[in-house]
Amino acid sequence: MDDKGNPKDIIENILKSRLTKDLNFDSGKILGSMCTRPHPFAKDIFSQYIEKNIGDPGLVNSTEKLEKEAINMIGKLLSLKNAYGYIVTGGTEANILALWTARNYAGAKPGIGEVIVPESCHFSFDKIGDLLCLKIIKISLTDKFQIDIKKVKQAITTRTVALVGVAGTTSLGAVDPIKKLSEIAEEHGIYLHIDAAFGGYVLPFLKDLGFPSPPFNFKLKGVRSITIDPHKMGMGVIPGGGIIYRNPEMVEKAKFPVSYLAGGENALPTIVGTRSGASVLSVWALLKHLGKSGYKTIVRRCMDLTFMLAEKIKEMKSVDLVMWPVINIVGIKSDSLNIKDIAFGLRKRGWAISLFKEHIRIVIMPHLYSDHIASFTDDLKKVVDEL
Ligand code: PLP
Repeated sequence: MDDKGNPKDIIENILKSRLTKDLNFDSGKILGSMCTRPHPFAKDIFSQYIEKNIGDPGLVNSTEKLEKEAINMIGKLLSLKNAYGYIVTGGTEANILALWTARNYAGAKPGIGEVIVPESCHFSFDKIGDLLCLKIIKISLTDKFQIDIKKVKQAITTRTVALVGVAGTTSLGAVDPIKKLSEIAEEHGIYLHIDAAFGGYVLPFLKDLGFPSPPFNFKLKGVRSITIDPHKMGMGVIPGGGIIYRNPEMVEKAKFPVSYLAGGENALPTIVGTRSGASVLSVWALLKHLGKSGYKTIVRRCMDLTFMLAEKIKEMKSVDLVMWPVINIVGIKSDSLNIKDIAFGLRKRGWAISLFKEHIRIVIMPHLYSDHIASFTDDLKKVVDEL
């Protein structure tokens, strides 16, 4: 820190010049991120209410009420009439909260409980195992990149505290057979959590758009909680994650009372104490502003571009699709070339793509347009030809 302060315009100019190496969404070069430029209205609302701390709910009674409304709107999108939950920092926190609830509800002592997840789960589940002292049992995938149901059944023991299904996997956007997981969960009385951090704002709109729409939500009776992130396909600001529970009673086991809050004694199950009320209000406002039709339009555009890219990849030599996309994620593989070499070639040309073990992942987010996809496939062809 300088001894004496500096004028704001000087600092702003320094910041601008110091941030030039950051990529921005307008460049169209960010093809591997699940975040996007937030909707301008979400940004606007966020900046208006930046000082609100919903971690002290008694101070912001009205904001708390609007959070309940936002959770109910998201719940309805997920076919749940009376939803319960929180707007949190992101998918990681939402997944932690779900399994914290599941562990405590099952009454498992730390180090004893087990959670059954697909191999394709997000790495937040490895963190969860470590943080909550739960053993994470990873189940291999079928050739459709879905959790192998037969192996799930074999993995269930008296120590199982939760099953996890993913609706829109991080690497390929695949959706696990959630209906079958739900039946197993009901049969064994086990908590089923669905990680729809990314897919949650996409899957509900697919049927109306005429695309296949795998079941994943609270219509399935075994589903107890769903992670769904406004800061991914919800066009919200960061931080903006969502956890939706079917039964509020279960969450009581993961709440800690605080007596000293200025707004009066309270108990919340979120990981953080101080929590952004601005995120909550901005999620509420954007849901109201866009409505189902607004989100449907966004998803339609992303899906059209996704299929445009998928068709182009299918026509190309030396690369292929890992699977036909279910949501707006495209996996590109090569049987003849080293996928790492292709990824490095693309990165050299400025493309911010994700590299997985055997494929490149492209996430078609709302900041992308057809000319970006065309220029990406042109570069991909060049990179492949050079190798
Ligand atoms: N779950 C899934 C399926 C994800 O793809 C991600 C992030 O990519 C997460 C959870 C974690 O979300 P966050 O980065 O907001 O913590």
